Amino acid sequence: MRIVSKAAAMQKCALQWKGRGVRVGFVPTMGYLHAGHLSLLRAARKRVGKSGRVVVSIYVNPTQFAPTEDLAKYPRDLKRDLKLCREAGVDVVFTPSDVEMYPVGSSRCDDRTAQRAVPTPFSTYVVEEKLSRTMEGAARPMHFRGVTTVVAKLFNLVLPDVAVFGQKDFQQAAIIKRMVADLNFPVKIIVAPTLREADGLAMSSRNKYLTGDLRRQATTLWRVIQTAKWVVKKSKSVSAADFKSDLKLLIEIEPDAKLDYVEFFNPETLSSASKVSRGTQMALAVFIGKTRLIDNTRL
Ligand code: AMP
Repeated sequence: MRIVSKAAAMQKCALQWKGRGVRVGFVPTMGYLHAGHLSLLRAARKRVGKSGRVVVSIYVNPTQFAPTEDLAKYPRDLKRDLKLCREAGVDVVFTPSDVEMYPVGSSRCDDRTAQRAVPTPFSTYVVEEKLSRTMEGAARPMHFRGVTTVVAKLFNLVLPDVAVFGQKDFQQAAIIKRMVADLNFPVKIIVAPTLREADGLAMSSRNKYLTGDLRRQATTLWRVIQTAKWVVKKSKSVSAADFKSDLKLLIEIEPDAKLDYVEFFNPETLSSASKVSRGTQMALAVFIGKTRLIDNTRL
């Protein structure tokens, strides 16, 4: 397994593969890998076969974090990640530094802060203007600008034939698919299912923050998803507004749980649904103490 930290070296390697007709599968991550990430690696390998190459990027991208968010304390353990990648049969781990990705310094979401702190010459961003307005986009302004920009950069460095994203970040996957279609990236996007802990909590690097009773309280997301599925199964159609207030009460039964949003929408267009019925997509974001968790399901 090769570890590449320079952008130019990564691109050179990818161009050599291209020249030899080698297929490349890519899994972008922020590291602190868990079984969910590993399932994406398996999906990538399955797509490119034994003769292909699987590349994983491990990069905590500063431009997708707001100044108030957890960039500095985002969990990291590169040694363990590399061991997991090696065991999973990864060919290349791309671990760029901030300076490699955003030359002469990195900027966070807040341009004014960034410009004060770092006079960076980096000034080109990729912005999706429709699907990124709601849910995570509304709750975390500029977040998706950081995501689409870094993913576009990574695609240009890794030149993948196939890239695998998790359904766990449903809106993110939809936005990446749209970006790929709109900007003609020659890559196929695969969206792989969410892996869960035994009690239903979606695996996430941020679960590390959940200590003591907060870990138990975090199962409220899964319980609410199960309840919503049950309600939709029993009744043909429910008012989204009423359903949201009922689910908020249910979530906030837990003393440290605070609902950020719960949304019902069309899974293709992400447009908001006023009636909830079978096939409607549900997504929610909940603070458990200071940790913000997201999850989603097709009802
Ligand atoms: P992250 O490291 O959190 O940026 O995630 C990297 C990729 O892994 C993204 O495409 C996520 O959607 C995906 N992912 C995160 N958690 C899970 C999970 N529990 N199951 C499957 N994929 C996941």
